[in-house]
Amino acid sequence: MADIEVQSVTRRLIQRITVYSVVCVLTICVAQGWYSWHHMSEEFDKSLLLIGETQLPLLAVSVWDAEPMAIERQLAHISQRPYIAYARLTADVGAVFEAGNPALHGRPNARMFNLAQPNDHEVSIGTLELVPDLSFLYLEIGRSVGFTLVGYLILCCLIILLLKREVERPLRHVLEYVTGSPQQRSKQMQSVGRGEDRRKDEIDMVVEGFQTLHQKIDLRMRELDAEVESRTNALQSAMESIHQLSIMDPLTACYNRRLFNERIVEEAERAERLQRPLTLVFADIDFFKRVNDKHGHSVGDQVLCHVSAIMRREIRESVDWVVRYGGEEFVLVLPGTDQDQAVGTAERVRVAIAAGPLHVRGQDIIVTCSFGVAQYQSGEATSAWLDRVDKCLYGAKQAGRNRVRAWENQDIQI
Ligand code: GH3
Ligand code: MG
Ligand code: MG
Repeated sequence: MADIEVQSVTRRLIQRITVYSVVCVLTICVAQGWYSWHHMSEEFDKSLLLIGETQLPLLAVSVWDAEPMAIERQLAHISQRPYIAYARLTADVGAVFEAGNPALHGRPNARMFNLAQPNDHEVSIGTLELVPDLSFLYLEIGRSVGFTLVGYLILCCLIILLLKREVERPLRHVLEYVTGSPQQRSKQMQSVGRGEDRRKDEIDMVVEGFQTLHQKIDLRMRELDAEVESRTNALQSAMESIHQLSIMDPLTACYNRRLFNERIVEEAERAERLQRPLTLVFADIDFFKRVNDKHGHSVGDQVLCHVSAIMRREIRESVDWVVRYGGEEFVLVLPGTDQDQAVGTAERVRVAIAAGPLHVRGQDIIVTCSFGVAQYQSGEATSAWLDRVDKCLYGAKQAGRNRVRAWENQDIQI
């Protein structure tokens, strides 16, 4: 399968959920911050007014009675409130008292209160300046926004974990299962399952679908394999039959001349290579034409089968071989056999053929054969060798038939 760049569906979902969540969280935080700012600012103002209303009469009494210690104690008490950063009292007589951070004096967000004379509220005896502690306000807003942010982040993480566990991991297993080999598939079959104690979902259905599909494909593959194997076997046996037909003589079940021409060259080369003798025996049925003429062609065929069967019987199995060279002519190929030994074999065959009459359709037929024998000579061309054997056979015929004639130098004169 070609390498295609695949983007995980879970990863894409996680990316989108993360982006959407961040946008949502930021929007919610801004809205919440804005709302908190307004709400807390109002609460802040109310708190300052409350301080003003509750603390001013006492302060006014202390200023009117000229009790600096009491004034300082009350200012310190006010400035210790969490949302007051600085408190400053300026008496009309010129005295100034302050508590908290003096650097905040004169800030634009400072609240100013008039101190009225205790027994005449129309007469002012000083002013009280209160500077709010904005860091407290910011801290409160930050805390509430922070909790919201953390809550949403935890929710995002949980969603990501769930997606990985419930979607990504099973999908990866399905992918490995689908793309794996049949051996891997049978191992992965178990891991694709995500526990028995729950209801099935779409992923389980997909896995089951693939499993069924693979089982059907495997079954079909096995059927096809078996079909291919049986057809291959049939083809092989047909090829063997054709090969046998191409190298065998159908009447006598001996090898044919075509095979002889091919293999005799290899036999000569092997004899040369192994320095082993190799001898040919040509056999020709005597007066075979007369058999045909007297008893008919089919009887002649039976005589051919009878003679070839005797030849096969008398030679060494799996070493020597018999060829039907022409109509009633045969060749015995005797590897590892020298000329004298081959003469012995030919003599044995001759005697076996001539031993008794052949009974066909109530008639006795006397069959004899003439034989020519010649051993292969090193470096000799096959055609020259065959000529020598043929000459020997001719000599046997000339000498009166039913005999074996081996190669001798004087045969060249024939
Ligand atoms: P010789 O002793 O000199 O070999 O005489 P012959 O009669 O055996 O030789 P000839 O060559 O004159 O005759 C061979 C005969 O073999 C002629 C042919 O009709 C016959 N023949 C060839 N092939 C077959 C065959 O397949 N079946 C039968 N029945 N006869 C065949
Ligand atoms: Mg003949
Ligand atoms: Mg002949």
